[in-house]
Amino acid sequence: MAQAYDVVVVGAGFSGLYMLHRLRQAGESVRVYEAGTSVGGTWFWNRYPGARVDIESQEYAYSFSPELDAEWKWTERYAAQPELLGYLNHVADRFDLRRDIQLETRVTTAVWDAAARRWNVATDRGDEVTARHVVMATGCLSIPKEDAELPGAETFHGPSWHTGRWPEAGVDFTGKTVAVIGTGSSAIQAIPQIAAQATHVTVFQRTPNFSVPAHNGPVDQNVVADWAANRAQYRKEARDTGFGIRYVATTEQPALEASPDERAAAYEARWRYGGFALLGAFNDLVLDPNANATAAEFVRGKIAEIVKDPVTAEKLSPKTYPIGAKRICVDTGYYAAFNRDNVSLVDLTEEPIERITAAGVMTSAGEYAVDAIVYAIGFDAMTGALDKIDVRGAGGARLKDAWAAGPATYLGLLVAGFPNLFLVTGPGSPSVLCNMAVAIEQHVEWISDCIAWMSERQAGSIEATPAAQDAWVAHVNEVADATIFPLANSWYLGANVPGKPRVFMPYIGGFPVYRDKCNEVAAAGYDGCVVAA
Ligand code: FAD
Ligand code: NAP
Repeated sequence: MAQAYDVVVVGAGFSGLYMLHRLRQAGESVRVYEAGTSVGGTWFWNRYPGARVDIESQEYAYSFSPELDAEWKWTERYAAQPELLGYLNHVADRFDLRRDIQLETRVTTAVWDAAARRWNVATDRGDEVTARHVVMATGCLSIPKEDAELPGAETFHGPSWHTGRWPEAGVDFTGKTVAVIGTGSSAIQAIPQIAAQATHVTVFQRTPNFSVPAHNGPVDQNVVADWAANRAQYRKEARDTGFGIRYVATTEQPALEASPDERAAAYEARWRYGGFALLGAFNDLVLDPNANATAAEFVRGKIAEIVKDPVTAEKLSPKTYPIGAKRICVDTGYYAAFNRDNVSLVDLTEEPIERITAAGVMTSAGEYAVDAIVYAIGFDAMTGALDKIDVRGAGGARLKDAWAAGPATYLGLLVAGFPNLFLVTGPGSPSVLCNMAVAIEQHVEWISDCIAWMSERQAGSIEATPAAQDAWVAHVNEVADATIFPLANSWYLGANVPGKPRVFMPYIGGFPVYRDKCNEVAAAGYDGCVVAA
C-alpha cells in the first residue's frame, strides 16, 4: 500500500524548508521531495560567478526564529551564493529537517482522488505516496529557459552553461573567449567577474537593463549591532513596506512636486546608498510614468558618466520601458566592465542572433567565434515549475489546461478546482515583487495555519470558489494596470517565453495590503473557499 502522509511538500528551498518545519510543529506528517542533490533551491542551482542577493543580507533571512537570527552572522552586506547556501544548510541542520527530505527526486504527477480526499503523488524515482495536502514550494525562478530557444545551440563545439544550472565545481574562464547572452540580473552580476578572468567577453544584449550599484562590502558591525538591538521592530517595519524591504520605505512625496534640484539630490543620495532604495525616493515612481521618467533619466545620466565610450553608453541605456517595470538589477562594477579592453557589447536590436553555430554566435552582421557560451537568458518564471508537473484536480482537470490563458489563483495560494493544493508565492501574490524572504514566511505560515485549522476540525478538503478566484484575478489585474509594470516586456508578464500568455502574474498592491487580506480571509473561516467534511 502507498505510504500515506498528511502533507507532501515539493521543493526544499527557502520555502520548502520552513514549510516542513512549521508543519512538523503543527504535528503533521510530511514528506519533502527535492529534485536537486542538496537543499537550498535558488542558492543551490545558481552558482554563477558573482551570484549574490540583491536585498541586504539582514533582511533576506528568516525571521521566525529569534535564536537562528541571533546566531547567524552574515559576512557581507549582500551575501554571496555560497554563504546563502551555507545559511540554508544550517537551517536544515539546526531544525533537524533532513530526515524528512528526499533529494534527487522530482515529483512528476499529483492526482486528486475525490473519493479518498487525498492526493496521489508520484516521482521520477518510482515513489508513489498519498497525502491529504500538497504544497508546491517549487520556486518562481527554478526552471531555466532552454538554450534550445536559440536555434543551433546543440551544434556549438565548446562548453556552455545556463546561469541557473551552474556546475558545482565552478568554471575557470582563464584564457577563454566567452559569449554571454542576456543582460538581466544574472548576467549583470556575472559579466564583471567573468571579464576579470577571461581573455575576452562578448555581451549579447537584447534589452538593456537599469542597474544600481550595490556598494557591497563586509557587513558594517554598527548595522549588525543596531539590528541585534531592534530586530523585532525592524522586521515589523520591513513587513509594513510595500516591497517588504525596510530600507526601501517610500517617502510621502510625489516626484513631480519636488524641484529638479530636490529630485537630483534625492536620487543621488539613494544611488550612493545603493540597490533598490532608489525606487523609494518618491511615492509615485511605480505609478506615474512621468514621475518614473525622472528616475530613469537619472540612471541614464549615471551610465553616461561611468561608461567611457559614448556609443556603448548609449546602447546600455534603457529607453523603451519605465525603470522598475523590469526588476532593477543590483550590481558590482557592471557598467564599468564595459571600459575594459576585453569586454565588448553586441546590440541585438541592430543585429539579431540568427543561430548558434559550431564556432559561436551568428548574428545578422556576422559570426562571433568564442570558446564558451554563458546563457544568462532567464527562467520560465512563476508557472514553469508547476507546468512541468502533471497536476490533476477535481474531475481530472489538468492545472496546465486550467492555466492555458494565464495562471488564475485565489490570493496566489489556492486554485479553484484543485482541493488541498497550496502554492507558496504563487501567481496572484506579491511573491517576486517583494522581498521573497518576507513573502515566503507569510505564505508558509498562512498555509500551515490553514492545514492545522482543517486538522482540528477534521475537515476533508478546502478549495477556492471560482467566484472568489475570479474576483481576485480581476483585482490583481486592475491593480497592475494602474502601475507602470505592464509597460515592459518582462518575465512578470511571461513576455520572455515565446508563446506564454501575457498576463501580469504577481500582485502589486503591496505586501501589507495583501497580508491583511489573507488574514481577513483566514479569520472569517476561509472566506471565498468551500470547506468540506
Ligand atoms: P526555490 O529556491 O526556487 O526552490 C524550489 C525548489 O523546488 C528547487 O530546489 C527545485 O529543484 C525544486 N523543485 C521544483 N520542481 C520540483 C519537482 N517537480 N520535484 C522536486 N523538486 C522540485 N529573491 C529575493 O527576494 N532577493 C534576492 O536577492 C533574490 N536573488 C535571486 C537570485 C537568483 C539568481 C534567482 C534565480 C532568484 C533570486 N531571488 C531573489 C528569488 C528566489 O528564487 C527566492 O528569493 C527564494 O530563494 C525562492 O525560494 P523557494 O524555496 O520558493 O524556491
Ligand atoms: P532575466 O531577467 O529574464 O534576463 C534574461 C536576459 O536574457 C534578458 O536580458 C533577456 O532579454 C535575455 N534573453 C532571453 N532570451 C533571449 C534570447 N532568446 N535571445 C537573446 N537574449 C535573450 O533573467 P535573469 O537575469 O536570470 O534574472 C531573473 C530574475 O532572477 C531577476 O529578475 C531576479 O528576480 C532574480 N535574480 C536576482 C539576482 C540578484 O541580484 N540577487 C540575480 C539573478 C537573478 P530581454 O530582456 O529582451 O527578454
